[in-house]
Amino acid sequence: MSTSETTAGRPSPVPDRISRPFWDACAEGRLTAQRCLDCGRLQWPPGPVCPACQSWAAEWEDLSPTGTVVSFVVVRRTFHPAFEAPYVIGHVEVDGTGGRVVLISNIDGADPDEVRVGMPVSVHWQARTGATVPLFRLLTPQGGAR
Ligand code: ZN
Repeated sequence: MSTSETTAGRPSPVPDRISRPFWDACAEGRLTAQRCLDCGRLQWPPGPVCPACQSWAAEWEDLSPTGTVVSFVVVRRTFHPAFEAPYVIGHVEVDGTGGRVVLISNIDGADPDEVRVGMPVSVHWQARTGATVPLFRLLTPQGGAR
C-alpha cells in the first residue's frame, strides 16, 4: 500500500458495523465490496441484506485498484478549509464490477480541466485521523499514474 499523505483537518469516515470491513481493507490498501453468498451479486454500498434476493449472507471480496471516471464535478470554490479549490469529485466505476461498484471520491494529482468521462484511474490512499480513504488518480495511456 502506498499512502500518499496525511491530511490534517479533513473529515474522516466513521465506520459502523456494516462498513467497518470496507474501511479495514482500505487501511490495508485494498478496495473491497460485499458479494452475496446466495445470488452472487456484488453489493454496493454495503448493507446487511442483499437488495436482489434479501439474503443476509455476504462475504467481502477484493476489487481491482483501477476504474473509469463515469461522471465528475470540478469544485471551484473552497467550502472547507481542508479542501482547497479547485478539486475534482468523481464517480469511479471500479473495473471488473460490471457497474455495480461506483465510488464517489476525489480525482486528484491532475489539472481539474484535464478530467473527462471515460478516463482510466487508479486508487491511491490518504491517511486521515482514524481511517484511510481511497482517492483516485488519472492513469496515463501507458498505464502509469500521473
Ligand atoms: Zn443475493
